[in-house]
Amino acid sequence: MLGEMMGDSLTITSIMKFANRVFADTQIVSVTGENPRHRTTFGKAFARAGKLANALAKLGCAQGDRIATLAWNDYRHFELYYGISCAGFVCHTINPRLFAEQIIYIANHAEDQWLFVDPDFVPIVEQVQDQLTHVRGYILLCDEANMPQTSLVNAMCYEAIIADEPTEYDWPELDENSASSLCYTSGTTGNPKGVLYSHRSTVLHSMAANATVALSPDEVLLPVVPMFHVNAWGMVYSAAATGTKLVFPGPKMGDGETLSALINEEKVSFALGVPTVWLALVDYLDQSGSTVESLCKVLVGGAACPLSLMKAMDRYNVWMHVVWGMTEMSPLGTYNDLLPWMHELPEEEQYQYRLKAGRLIYGVEMRIVDETGNELAWDGKTSGRLLVRGPWVCKSYYKVKESDAHLPDGWFDTGDVATIDRYGYMQITDRTKDVIKSGGEWISSIDVENAAMGHPDVAEAAVIGVPHPKWTERPLLVVVKRPGSAPDKKDLLNFLIGKIAKWWIPEDCVFVEEIPHTATGKVSKKDLREQFSDYRY
Ligand code: ADP
Repeated sequence: MLGEMMGDSLTITSIMKFANRVFADTQIVSVTGENPRHRTTFGKAFARAGKLANALAKLGCAQGDRIATLAWNDYRHFELYYGISCAGFVCHTINPRLFAEQIIYIANHAEDQWLFVDPDFVPIVEQVQDQLTHVRGYILLCDEANMPQTSLVNAMCYEAIIADEPTEYDWPELDENSASSLCYTSGTTGNPKGVLYSHRSTVLHSMAANATVALSPDEVLLPVVPMFHVNAWGMVYSAAATGTKLVFPGPKMGDGETLSALINEEKVSFALGVPTVWLALVDYLDQSGSTVESLCKVLVGGAACPLSLMKAMDRYNVWMHVVWGMTEMSPLGTYNDLLPWMHELPEEEQYQYRLKAGRLIYGVEMRIVDETGNELAWDGKTSGRLLVRGPWVCKSYYKVKESDAHLPDGWFDTGDVATIDRYGYMQITDRTKDVIKSGGEWISSIDVENAAMGHPDVAEAAVIGVPHPKWTERPLLVVVKRPGSAPDKKDLLNFLIGKIAKWWIPEDCVFVEEIPHTATGKVSKKDLREQFSDYRY
């Protein structure tokens, strides 16, 4: 027997219309290249999204066309998110930190028709424009007074093209399964792969995120995760659905001083970002003696959160919730919150739970399996390949046949290696391709890195496996020193004793000026392994 409830489509348009009705006065504050504090509201931004949709129609865009953005987190990018997707086009966010060849590859693979570009990224696009096969023109995200001199062919000004358009737009009734947005994984192996989100997956993800993190009109949200990577963890939709004030840092994402000023001036209560961002904030607070009184909650993810960082944020009364996910998962999969009884544990034991990636959020299923696909126990010790499934997990990549997407039995292989404890707390121990296998046993490079990061003289640490005549592979610790410090190799390795299993402790440590990173700010183990390919134990 079927239920008798209404089957309205779950579309981003429904979020926009709802927020426009209920939360039109909710503020959006942005840092932009033109203005250190631009202020608008949801209502005004959606009206401009309507103007944008009219302008796109005039440019000849057809349903399903991919329209790309290379932009910071600000109100114009917010307008593009809604204007493009709700008009029935696909908003393709491009990460401007990618290498030129990768930008060319993904813009051509996606067959992007128009590129909306922040003036900061014009030089990057000028370099590659000759090789973009489908782009018909470039719209620069600024007003006419700030239009840069550019060699971009068919360059237009955003404010000029929307100026005379009406705010009303006849938003189409979209099938909830139609594509809304596109984001490519950084492709540490092979070419980047496109993850094509649907309206339905986006709405469901945003509802689940809201149920998990409890955004509300009483909160002020600072997304420091870029809108050019996995839709700023979906929070731009969640904020609209809950009437949460948005504070966008624009080009100042890694700048501790600006972040601190934004938090204090705008009374930010809730923020999200990768560990690097919070390291920059803590450094600034420590040096300047400033505080961040309004900030209560931070979601940290994208990479493991070092214990030292969590402790530092605790000193400023900011509770860090670790989250885990990936581009292919829209991105949220798990969220870390302690169970009531865990708050009674001694502090160090609480940290052991708090540092894990957390528990599943409703809608996602996960399992860990061994090399032959057998499911492993949730005992907190046994580690295996992490598989997931759910309505906001991708089932295939854009223009890649479903059968080629490596989905064993309908599960998505995350490429992560993890343990899950009996309370359901998952912990990432490695990436499959970064795993160090020593004497037949796995060493968690993440655990070794985190232990090393706890040393006061260590600014950044990474661990890779290098060949070893007896053990096949042994870990090598690579360290960037804190400026002005002179750590001793032996002391540093001795510091790890008691913090990780004895046989995990690397035999050697090398100091480098810099550790290579990917476009999403993660340590590039592939480049690091290349750098140390001649190293021998
Ligand atoms: P990319 O596409 O550049 O790899 P993603 O953001 O999709 O970027 O990266 C997802 C990966 O990041 C995960 O598979 C995992 O390895 C890592 N990751 C994300 N969150 C965490 C976390 N909390 N702890 C450890 N690793 C994490």
